[in-house]
Amino acid sequence: MDNIIDKISDISGENIYACYQCGKCSAGCPSVEQMDILPNQVIRLIQIGRVELALKSNAIWVCASCFMCSVRCPRGIDLSKIMEALREIHLREDIDHIDIKDVRRENVYELPQIALVANFRKQTG
Ligand code: SF4
Ligand code: SF4
Repeated sequence: MDNIIDKISDISGENIYACYQCGKCSAGCPSVEQMDILPNQVIRLIQIGRVELALKSNAIWVCASCFMCSVRCPRGIDLSKIMEALREIHLREDIDHIDIKDVRRENVYELPQIALVANFRKQTG
C-alpha cells in the first residue's frame, strides 16, 4: 500500500502527510455538494492507507480542478493535484470513468463541444 501512496505523492508532487485535517479545503470547495466524500476525507483515506476507497469515490471525478482548496490550505497542499493523481491512477488501469455510449443523445447536441471534449479528456484514458 505504501507503494500506491508513494505513487500518489510522485504524480501529484504533494506531501500527503502534511495535511492535519482542518477541513478548510472542504469548506471552500464549490463542488462539495455533488461529492460523496469531502475533499479532506479523500486525503485522510490516503493517509490511513485506504486508497481504494478514495479511488472509488465520485469526489475525484466531480472535482473541477478550481484550486480553491490549494488557496485555502494552511499547509500549502494542492489538493487538486492529489485529485488529479487519483484520476490518473484509475485511468492508467485502462478503466474509463465514462463510456461515450452512456451520454444521452440530446446532451451531445445541446452541450458545447468543448465541454464534451474536456470531459472525455478528464474521464477517459
Ligand atoms: S485545507 Fe489542507 S490541511 Fe486542511 S484538511 Fe484540507 S488539505 Fe488538509
Ligand atoms: S480543486 Fe477540486 S477539491 Fe479543490 S476546491 Fe476545487 S473542486 Fe474542490
